[in-house]
Amino acid sequence: MPNNTDFCKIVATLGPDTSNEQSVEQLVLAGVSVFRCNCSHGSLAEYQERVANIRKMEQKYNCSLGVLFDLQGPKLRIGTFQNGAVTLETGKPFQLDMNPAPGDATRVCLPHPEIFAALQEGMELLLNDGMVRLRVNSFTKDTARCSVMIGGELSNKKGVNVPGVKLPISALTAKDRADLQTAEMLGADFIGLSFVQDPNDIIELRSLMKSKAHIIAKIEKPSAIEHLREIIDLADVIMVARGDLGVETSPELVPVLQKKIISGCRKAGKPVIVATQMLESMVTSLMPTRAEASDVANAVYDGVDAVMLSAETAQGQHPVEAVTTMRRIIETVESDHRYRKGLALLERKNDSTKEGAVTAAASVVATNMDTANVIVTFTDSGSTTLRASKQRVGGVPILALTPNITTARQLTLTWGVTPIVVDTLTSFDDMLTQARKAVLGQKLAKEGDNVVITAGIPFGKAGTTNMLYVLSV
Ligand code: PEP
Repeated sequence: MPNNTDFCKIVATLGPDTSNEQSVEQLVLAGVSVFRCNCSHGSLAEYQERVANIRKMEQKYNCSLGVLFDLQGPKLRIGTFQNGAVTLETGKPFQLDMNPAPGDATRVCLPHPEIFAALQEGMELLLNDGMVRLRVNSFTKDTARCSVMIGGELSNKKGVNVPGVKLPISALTAKDRADLQTAEMLGADFIGLSFVQDPNDIIELRSLMKSKAHIIAKIEKPSAIEHLREIIDLADVIMVARGDLGVETSPELVPVLQKKIISGCRKAGKPVIVATQMLESMVTSLMPTRAEASDVANAVYDGVDAVMLSAETAQGQHPVEAVTTMRRIIETVESDHRYRKGLALLERKNDSTKEGAVTAAASVVATNMDTANVIVTFTDSGSTTLRASKQRVGGVPILALTPNITTARQLTLTWGVTPIVVDTLTSFDDMLTQARKAVLGQKLAKEGDNVVITAGIPFGKAGTTNMLYVLSV
């Protein structure tokens, strides 16, 4: 059976070697809840294969799995070089311009007028993931004369970052729009939005969407941090995209911003994923470094909903071991009494609505009653379950019983939740029968135990949580 009943969930990126049925099955059994297709790589045929195999596993193991399509976003790149690559020396001048001719050690094309329009004297431009740094000394509308601050090798089409500047470009390119259509056609549960600069990027994506897929806003730019609260409010899920965030800011700021983003999501009750380089050394090694184990563990201690694997499962040599390692780290933290104590201390914004109060009361009941160790939420849209998860009651799993398969799949990355698809409820008695069957089936309670149930009555009206009931199993 899949091993994804832990509180913190695992997102794994699929690649060419992990998209076949056997690999997907192994990853599910190791504990993956959500599979990510990175739209920077992959073809329609590959995406179809992946989604088909994921859905096959849902059938085989009678569970729900999430499918995330992560849109690439605009990639700003330099042009090409006469010899394919150059080595820039620190302290030497270097020019960026709009001339499409191949470059050399003195200049290269930068085919992005929007960057020239945003230039300022003294600003830094980062090339090749920040490995090469230029300082702008002077500029015109199509030329920037720079000094090389940190030299290094630069090859054809390397990426360019313009940190600290809000560029007048949409987060959605023509390719992203086409990938969005593919994702929706294939029934994606989550759409990842890269290059988010402000809340309008989320609004634009939402206006283009035909499905009810949840939007994952990837926080990777300083301007997104400036608008963090509004972005958290508008998106369904937040991702701490540490790869680009580390280039756009600096590596030492990543842990600080990670804590800030997680804390903002915790207060708002929005699911949050920590991504990138979590077990990077496992791309080639069977063992993580101590620092990587500690990194995953600290995210779990901070109460994140999910941790993500990228290259480790997309192109690594040990994808299943990477998931198993991550799972072991999660389980070790979750069985530490300090973890539960820490969760209890997490800042929670008081939700004074009826729904918030009923959910908070359910958590108090489950915590105070020795014989009630599980919360069952009945939900259509997922909101009752999200509220229960927001409480972060350590050691009390949450079952989400829903007739809506999309809701079940979207709850796969929510902290503490095991989603189960059930028939539409017909009556209050039916609800009690379904709750009893689910907790016994999941072995979360035995006869004589109590189960705390929350739901919104009448059933099927989204957003209402108005019932709290203690069922003796
Ligand atoms: C990241 O930047 O950390 C990230 C997850 O995005 P991508 O893999 O698309 O670069």
